Amino acid sequence: MSDATLVELFSSIQGEGPYVGRRQLFLRFHGCNLECSYCDTVQPSPPTRCRVETAPGSALFRELPNPLSLATVAGIFTDWDDRFPGLHHSISITGGEPLLHPELLARWLPLLREIRPIYLESNGTLPGPLGAVIDHLDFVSMDIKLPSATGLPPFWETHRKFLEVAVGKDLFVKVVVAPESSLEEIDLLCGIIHDVDSCIPLILQPVTRSGRPAVSAQQLLRFQERGSRLLADVRVIPQTHVFLDLL
Ligand code: SF4
Repeated sequence: MSDATLVELFSSIQGEGPYVGRRQLFLRFHGCNLECSYCDTVQPSPPTRCRVETAPGSALFRELPNPLSLATVAGIFTDWDDRFPGLHHSISITGGEPLLHPELLARWLPLLREIRPIYLESNGTLPGPLGAVIDHLDFVSMDIKLPSATGLPPFWETHRKFLEVAVGKDLFVKVVVAPESSLEEIDLLCGIIHDVDSCIPLILQPVTRSGRPAVSAQQLLRFQERGSRLLADVRVIPQTHVFLDLL
């Protein structure tokens, strides 16, 4: 199977992490292997049609029947990139969880990478599939999932293995923290990152509830202070696309 069931293709601003504000081409896959309590993206069943922005940044959409071919997607992204030379920083491969489709990614990414560099957004729990596509990636945005925020069991050792595969890339770790999150969890996650490379940037992202960051400034400062004992670059960055009402 070389065609992909996709949720949407659009051009917008990266709203999270150290590349916040950079314009990207977004390719969103359906489906995830997790069920985080705060998730706002996963749909219950595979979409029969893919939403495709009619022009970059228009926020107007047409629909194409799924699955889509690589030629179709590459043609759309090439057209958008040609219309605005120099605008797009990279192609964000997002979801859901894109690494549920490693064989397809291994076929698609070499051609997409000729258009723009590849920026993978992953929940950090599929180190094997990451290894299958790592040579086709330029940027890796990896989540570490805290039980206090997701309502799920911890994935510490899986996250460690993922980091070990990703470490040669332009890599950062993003962790969603909640009011229920603890300093002990911060110690654990920072210990794992420190064991791999203490210079990997860590982004503390307060969970968004009712359209606002739901963690107090004081708590965020404590988390940053604690993380900085082990790591060289700990930043606090909320989800910004929520404030800007962007896609
Ligand atoms: S990993 Fe991401 S896409 Fe998957 S359930 Fe959690 S928040 Fe949603």
